[in-house]
Amino acid sequence: MGFFDKLGAGLKKTRDNIFGSISQMINAGEITPELYEDLEEQLILADTGADIAAQLVEKLKERVRQNYLKTGADALEALKDIIREMLEPDSEMNLAGHPTVILVIGVNGVGKTTSIAKLAHLYTEEGKKVMLAAGDTFRAAAIEQLDIWAKRAGVPIVRHQDGADPAAVIYDAVTSATAKGMDIVLCDTAGRLHTKKNLMEELGKITRVINKANPNAAVETLLVLDSVTGQNAINQAREFVEAANATGIILTKLDGTAKGGAVISVKAKLGLPVRFVGVGEGIDDLMEFDPGAFVDALFLQEV
Ligand code: GDP
Repeated sequence: MGFFDKLGAGLKKTRDNIFGSISQMINAGEITPELYEDLEEQLILADTGADIAAQLVEKLKERVRQNYLKTGADALEALKDIIREMLEPDSEMNLAGHPTVILVIGVNGVGKTTSIAKLAHLYTEEGKKVMLAAGDTFRAAAIEQLDIWAKRAGVPIVRHQDGADPAAVIYDAVTSATAKGMDIVLCDTAGRLHTKKNLMEELGKITRVINKANPNAAVETLLVLDSVTGQNAINQAREFVEAANATGIILTKLDGTAKGGAVISVKAKLGLPVRFVGVGEGIDDLMEFDPGAFVDALFLQEV
């Protein structure tokens, strides 16, 4: 399956449920006050969040007015442009470190371990040298799981016993990755750090040891959110984003929700770009997030 087909398949439920009909509704209709009202309602149902739904409709009204748009088809294109602009990242991920250390954080069950495996696969395919670090030492099962994925992806892994200090695991991984000329170290972290203070302390320590192991290492911190829980996940993530110094978002399980509208509001609400989306359980089911392709797949009208 090509990139666009796979993304389209991942978004099928969301499109069938809402965005396909939004597309048809705007395309077929005239631009009336009722149309705006219906659109806002549909966007809320799609889990964009009420505030973002209202913002989108306001922006659309403004653009229709400014550009003297007359047809539904033009309004639809304008809406797609607005969403695309909202999702455009302000900068690229920094992968220029030697190595770049990617800390993957998020509560248990959101798809952290699977996403690390998928990232390992994706970067390996791009020709990068990847290493994993089993930093979720609280769960023996998490270490085993990551080990299995490492074998499947064909990449080395640094692991300690369960109960070990996560910072020690990551220190070892960065030291080893530096010696071996690795490009990327993907680090699992504990998902049970419920309090902001715990998380800050733990990640602060991890960042310090990375710097000690190799001052030339770059650090990216990706927060994993489950799109099935949508707006709830986004609201709960707010304080963690700040505490963890997160630099981007991985949205998993887009294929498992009919309300993929949450994707639209992530950047506006958390101030962080979506970097990757998960569209299935397989190792190649993680895609680099491309706002243009995302919007096209979302509003695709099947014939
Ligand atoms: P962790 O506890 O955060 O490490 O979560 P896991 O990586 O173990 O994932 C939890 C469950 O979610 C597993 O059954 C995964 O197969 C599933 N999962 C993860 N990402 C996706 C995705 O993008 N789509 C679907 N359908 N399932 C996913």
